[in-house]
Order: sequence, then C-alpha cells, then structure tokens
Amino acid sequence: MRRKLAAGNWKMNGTGGSLAEADALAAAWPQAACDILICPPATLLSRLSDRLSGSLIATGAQDCHTASSGAHTGDVSADMVADAGGSHVILGHSERRADHGETDALVRAKAEAALGAGLIAVVCVGETLEEREAGQTIDIVGGQLAGSLPDGATAANTVVAYEPVWAIGTGKVPTLEEIGAVHDDIRARLVARFGAEGDGIRVLYGGSVKPSNAAEIFGVSNVDGALVGGASLKADDFGGIIAALNA
Ligand code: PEP
Repeated sequence: MRRKLAAGNWKMNGTGGSLAEADALAAAWPQAACDILICPPATLLSRLSDRLSGSLIATGAQDCHTASSGAHTGDVSADMVADAGGSHVILGHSERRADHGETDALVRAKAEAALGAGLIAVVCVGETLEEREAGQTIDIVGGQLAGSLPDGATAANTVVAYEPVWAIGTGKVPTLEEIGAVHDDIRARLVARFGAEGDGIRVLYGGSVKPSNAAEIFGVSNVDGALVGGASLKADDFGGIIAALNA
C-alpha cells in the first residue's frame, strides 16, 4: 500500500511573510493519513524547516546541483538542502527543463546526488501540448522516466511526478482517463525496471490540482497524490487538497 503524498511547490514565490501559511497548515493538520511536503524557494528552506520541525510537514528544495560543493555560483547542493532541514528535492520540473535546458541525463545526475545526500528525489516528467496532440505522450513520458531516474531509485528514496506541461498553471487538466492511462504506463515501466521497489514508488499527478478537482483525480488508479503549484501557496487551498487525500 503506497502512502499518499501532498507535495507543494511554491516555485519563486514567498518571502518571510509566507511562513504564516505554513504555520496555518501545520495547525490545521496536526495529524494526517498522508504525507505532506512543502518545497519553498531556497531562501526560505532553512526558516521553514525550523518552523515546521515537530510538525508532520516535511520540507524540500526545488532543485539541486550534481556536485556537493564547488565553484557553481548561484547553485545549491543536495548536501546543503539536507543541511537546511530539507528531506526532499524536486528535480526536472518542466520549468527547469524549459528555463535552464535541463536534460534527462542532467536530471538523473542530480537525482543521484540527491540520493547520495540522503534526500528523497521527486522526479518530474510530462509532455508538452504539441507532443500530446501528436499522440506522443506515452513515448515522451516513458523516455523521460527511463532517462531521468537513477538505477538506485527505490520506493523510499524516489517519487515520480507526472505533470503535463500544458496543465501546469493553466487551469487545464487532462481527463481522468488520460491521467489514468499515463499513470498506469508509468507504473508498468517502474515495475519492469525496479521490480517490487517500482511497485512502491509513488507517482503523483501535477497540473492545476485544486480542492475542487482533487478528489476525482485521487480516485484514478496509480495516482498516489499530487504535486501542487499555485494552490499550495495558501493553507486553505492546500488544506482542501490534503483533505481529499484524507477522505
Ligand atoms: C507545478 O508547478 O508543479 C504545478 C503543478 O503547478 P500548478 O499546480 O500551479 O499547475
């Protein structure tokens, strides 16, 4: 039985005042039947981790470098994420693939660094609208999965997030059948490559998840939770999604 996960990606949003939203979320969810994760911008990770220590909400980063230290101006290493109190790191988000030209090979190297630092890697995959319209979704997502996951991926150290690029921040969501088809295919590929561990790796859906559509999405087979952008910024909205996982 895979424990569900509600993961929030604050992206490049939030300053000190945003910590109050995390406080409110922690107060609203002193216990839960799912795991809860917030990945704030790097500037907030240490403060948020301190603030949430003792709560059941985990924290993580939105990226890390492949190296543990060195001459990489502006980057943050997996060891630094762990040192700041983070337990997870999102890798290969489509915005990083698009904005920073991140390839599957780079994402895989980052994931290896993350696992080496004891972090849980949340590895993102997903097709563009053009790729979906060309009927390439399964091939694209399967290729990203094969190229981005390290051989050492296990149920304990890796989470996959399926995020159709065209659904992120747009209010557009695939049909439940479309979500199910991709998640079932991802599950089959994980089992084929990792055996029993692959059956335990959680596969999140991401892309315009809100309190109003969360329950039906969570009812789809092989959907083990959500990676949430915009709706994770407010405790009430993220709480509504968490509630759907606890129903
Ligand atoms: C995301 O950035 O991972 C995401 C899913 O964003 P949103 O929920 O805003 O679509």
